Amino acid sequence: MVSCTSPVMQDTCEKKHLLTLITDLPRMTQMQAIAFHELGLYRVADLLKHLPMRYETHHGGMTIEAAETLLGDRDATPELVTIETTIIKVNPGWRRGRKSKIEVAVEDETGRMRINWFNQPWVARALHPDMRIRLHGSLSTHKGFLQMNNPRWEEIEEDEPSHAIEGDLRPVYRASEHLSSSVIAKNIADVIDGALPEIDDHLTNEMLHDLAMPNLSDAYKMCHKPETLDQAKEGQRRIGYDELLLLQLGVMMKRHHRRDTMHAPKLAWNEQIKSRIKARIPFTLTDSQQQVIEEIAGDITTTTPMNRLLQGDVGSGKTVVALHAMLMAVTCNAQAALMAPTELLAEQHFKTITTLLKNSNVKVALLTSSLTGKERKVLIQQISDGTIDIIVGTHALLTNDVIFSNIAIAITDEQHRFGVQQRALLRSKSDDEQAIPHTLVMTATPIPRTLSLTIFGDLDVSTIKGMPPGRTPVTTRLVQPEGAKKVYEYLLDLLEKGQQGYVVVPLVEETESGLTSVLSHAESLRTGYLRGKTVGVVHGRMKSDERETTMSQFRAGNIDVLVATTVIEVGVDIANATMMIIEHADRFGLAQLHQLRGRVGRGTLPGVCALIANPTTDDALHRLEAIVDTTDGFRIAERDLEIRGPGELFGAKQSGIAPFKVASLPRDFDLLRLARRSAAKWIERDPTLSESTLLKARLMHAHGETLGLGDVA
Ligand code: ADP
Ligand code: MG
Repeated sequence: MVSCTSPVMQDTCEKKHLLTLITDLPRMTQMQAIAFHELGLYRVADLLKHLPMRYETHHGGMTIEAAETLLGDRDATPELVTIETTIIKVNPGWRRGRKSKIEVAVEDETGRMRINWFNQPWVARALHPDMRIRLHGSLSTHKGFLQMNNPRWEEIEEDEPSHAIEGDLRPVYRASEHLSSSVIAKNIADVIDGALPEIDDHLTNEMLHDLAMPNLSDAYKMCHKPETLDQAKEGQRRIGYDELLLLQLGVMMKRHHRRDTMHAPKLAWNEQIKSRIKARIPFTLTDSQQQVIEEIAGDITTTTPMNRLLQGDVGSGKTVVALHAMLMAVTCNAQAALMAPTELLAEQHFKTITTLLKNSNVKVALLTSSLTGKERKVLIQQISDGTIDIIVGTHALLTNDVIFSNIAIAITDEQHRFGVQQRALLRSKSDDEQAIPHTLVMTATPIPRTLSLTIFGDLDVSTIKGMPPGRTPVTTRLVQPEGAKKVYEYLLDLLEKGQQGYVVVPLVEETESGLTSVLSHAESLRTGYLRGKTVGVVHGRMKSDERETTMSQFRAGNIDVLVATTVIEVGVDIANATMMIIEHADRFGLAQLHQLRGRVGRGTLPGVCALIANPTTDDALHRLEAIVDTTDGFRIAERDLEIRGPGELFGAKQSGIAPFKVASLPRDFDLLRLARRSAAKWIERDPTLSESTLLKARLMHAHGETLGLGDVA
């Protein structure tokens, strides 16, 4: 008996056709089978799931030679044929009053023929030698020479869209070097009729009726053997809907599970706590900050675990919001953790928080992978016995031996650097399997709406709008490499006024392409443009204590200019640093440039950003133009989406969620909304999908692992 490996046939093993191995198909050669396997296709079921990329019109496949042969055999001559040809010559022919004739000689690889157009003088103006045209009409001969009179015609475009003219639709499959689309098509055509009846649907007829969609078996048929393009689209729509539905179901199931079976500590929030925190903060919160703090408080004063995303542009003041949330935990004798993507950022958060909490009873500690041996042991002990109230750290917090005494809230900063799964890993040592901390995820990269509804669909979103008062937007200029001298002179002027600056360089090491490393660039600045100034260096390969020393020197104003890699991309907050020079700016992504630029203009002094680059690709130029044009992070995220396309979007890759095969966002936003509504209804009615074992199996197969649905379902 064959084992059931694919959920398409999970419910029963009587799937003779679907389970057939590709190697057992009648036409299959061994070489071909290998090529199929390379495409990930092993069984007939896989073959059916390999959907056409597009469709081509079947043009009759007629060559001039074949047409000639056909014409000899009267019975076999079709009324109409289609031939693709190249024009050799256009003769104006004759014209008498309103009557006219144009003669055109055409050829293909097999022969030549003549085309006559009567009474259509304009055709002569539209046609010219070397033009490729598709002719559709009836064949005849004149003095033994093949010809067509008054055929329908159209120009064949270089990149012709697949729906150019009507006719039989031919599916075009993603092929490979060793496997052509037509071989794939033939094999699918061989098996499809046997296999289609074996495809079960996980939706009921009633649901399909409400959705006005075909059942799965019909949908696959429509995709592989469409009669019209509309039919192919209808089939694809159903399959795309399923992809979106499965992801929505997974995300909602998780959300439901989290909210209904898990619980988190109920914390307190009142005027007294508010004013105690307020007394420690050297500025007044903006209305928007206050509002998101209330939203967070609304969540964590209940036992339903919070799962909230806090988005706010670079410099909008997320840290102080996070601090409020952490102090709500500490006030209730519970612990809070703040996790950052880099050591540098963790160190800085630690510094900010300890400064704000100076002379209080709150115990704050820093845990990064730099901490080792005895010191680490002691700290881990203090985390687990509750001595430490607030723990700031990196991934190092996620190690198994870090167990909290009583963690109430876990915050991650700039979470696109962490996988989605890592969110709720921080745990207390309690035996209560259902106890988890509230989680808050902070990001400066706004998540486009489409994604916030898919991968991040289980998150509630709070947004800090606007900036703290007194900020002047950073002025950004694009400068050709020849203009670098002027840029550094400008920096020197600022240094004279007591301000500081950053110089960002893309790589640490010398490369063949001639990019200079941070180290050599710093050296050349010391002896060149910035002679007499103190130039420091930070990069990702430095030991953290070395880096920390340099950073505190810079913070203290003992270093004038910091030459750095993108380690300073996130979060570094030094208000006196007002200018940033980015070398080889075309090498950075748009979001990255926006993050980097966010390091200046953080105080009341105006910020300046000079992008030194000589962009050689359109994409690079578009990125640089976008960053010069606007400082609005939401606009930049939109532009990023336009330039890069949805495939590379924020979080999509890191999430590990398999890309959709048919659905595409943001194009299929409407379909997504539909899938979302269906999923919400289903989960509300049947949160564990017990109504359909088939649907559940398919969901687990698609997203069980990446969404961590194991303990949910
Ligand atoms: P981000 O959202 O990028 O993490 P930060 O939390 O680092 O931003 O805040 C940026 C700077 O703005 C910090 O120096 C912080 O102290 C300051 N800040 C935050 N909120 C306010 C406010 N309401 N008024 C004045 N300064 C503020
Ligand atoms: Mg920050």
